[in-house]
Amino acid sequence: MPVPPRTRPIELVERLRWGLPILIFLFVVFHQLFTLDWIDPLPTPLRFIAGLLVYGLIGPLMAWWVFTWIAAHLREQQRIEQQMREREQYLASITTASSDAIMSVDTCGCIQSWNQGAQTIFGWTADEILGQSMDVLVPAERQARGEPANILVTVAKRGAISHYETEWMRKDSRHLVVDVTSNVLTDATGQMIGSATIIRDITARKRAEEQVRELNRELEKRVDKRTRQLNIALQQLQGRADELERANEELTELDHLKSEFVSMVSHELRAPLTNINGSVELLVSDTGLEPGQRAMLHIIREQTQRLTRLVQGILNVSRIEAGRLTLHQEPLDVSYVLTRVAKNTRGAPPRDIEVDLPAYPLMAWADLDRVEEVLVNLVDNALKYSPPDTPVRLSGYNAAHQIVIAVSDNGIGIPPDQLERIFEKFHRLEQGDNRETYGHGLGLYIARGLVQALGGRMWAESMPGRGSTFYFTLPQAYASDGLPGASRPADGLLWPAATAPTPLDEAPSPRSAS
Ligand code: ADP
Repeated sequence: MPVPPRTRPIELVERLRWGLPILIFLFVVFHQLFTLDWIDPLPTPLRFIAGLLVYGLIGPLMAWWVFTWIAAHLREQQRIEQQMREREQYLASITTASSDAIMSVDTCGCIQSWNQGAQTIFGWTADEILGQSMDVLVPAERQARGEPANILVTVAKRGAISHYETEWMRKDSRHLVVDVTSNVLTDATGQMIGSATIIRDITARKRAEEQVRELNRELEKRVDKRTRQLNIALQQLQGRADELERANEELTELDHLKSEFVSMVSHELRAPLTNINGSVELLVSDTGLEPGQRAMLHIIREQTQRLTRLVQGILNVSRIEAGRLTLHQEPLDVSYVLTRVAKNTRGAPPRDIEVDLPAYPLMAWADLDRVEEVLVNLVDNALKYSPPDTPVRLSGYNAAHQIVIAVSDNGIGIPPDQLERIFEKFHRLEQGDNRETYGHGLGLYIARGLVQALGGRMWAESMPGRGSTFYFTLPQAYASDGLPGASRPADGLLWPAATAPTPLDEAPSPRSAS
């Protein structure tokens, strides 16, 4: 709200003090000089009225107007002063209520005002501090550096300083970290009369910040330490990894040597074993032997056959692992192979093997000897791991361009967590019933290797105590795979019925037939 200059009515009154008598005097002179000529000839009553108008009315009217005008101005001034007093009151209460310290100092640095916040922060009451130098608020070492004077000079030069952080002091000499903002105070002429200063106590905030910094430093130290430890661990790991890599290379080399050695020894063993086998067979066929001699020859034959199977198995393993398996794949009549294996592999004492075949022919693209080897192994296992009075079944069927062959028994079964592990090399299950079953844990490993080499896969399903079924697949053979005279059947999948197997004993093996 614009405040009219306070001096105006007084100046006007000053002017009117001289102006009004002069004005009335001039008016009377004017009346005497210029109006008397036409008033004098008038009759007496009229002259009286004219004199009354000039001297009795105009003068008082002017005096009334002047005093009315002065009264109006005085009222206005009174109202403005009231308003200003209220405003000052309002500002004073804000200053008093502020939790920040608000003080004013004169140009010499003596404290002129001191609010409640200042009293709370510094512990000095207004009565104690008013008139004292602001130096009492500044610690000695800062006074020595001239800080209070510097603040005054800077405020005088720049008009203000804002958020200057420093350390001041309470009445009880306790140090405080404070944020000082100061503005210059001027009088009506613009002359500096001091400064108004707001001081905020930031001790707690600074302490918290320092604590956070300390925590950060601590954290960084820990992270550094951990990082160093991790680096050391990483280097050690790297060293271990290098060692392992070297060990692995050495092991691979050793494995290679071992495979070569095993292969060589097996070859060397095979020839004498074949000779022993042949000789034993000749001796067994001799009719003039004593029963005791014959029984001993049977034992020798059985054991050499076991040894031969083991050597063959080891040879197979080294061939599979070296990828040197030789295969003779051709169209193979699976029904024929199943029936033949069922007839020839019957265990001791001999058991009947059931064969379950579909009405349509099952032709696979495979190697007869390898498929027979796989089947003999699975049937052997089925016989070994099932009671003598339970059936063993062989079956085959066609599914999704594959020939699927299954060998099942009603034996001891295999726990679910072992269904994959039994295909590992040398892995045998603890039977837990003290029954000794002959084996090396190589059969399934070799069987799966052979099936995979033939392009199929092998897996097992089982219910412990109820029996197991071993499955393997072989690629299906088509007419176009090479049997003379055969044509692809209408559904494009199955071998023509004309090539169904002939009865077992008269049938030549499909390979020799082809
Ligand atoms: P093994 O010479 O020991 O028979 P295999 O590789 O042929 O070696 O078999 C591995 C293991 O799998 C066997 O020791 C046996 O515990 C388990 N096994 C294989 N076939 C069967 C089966 N039909 N029923 C139950 N267990 C089986």
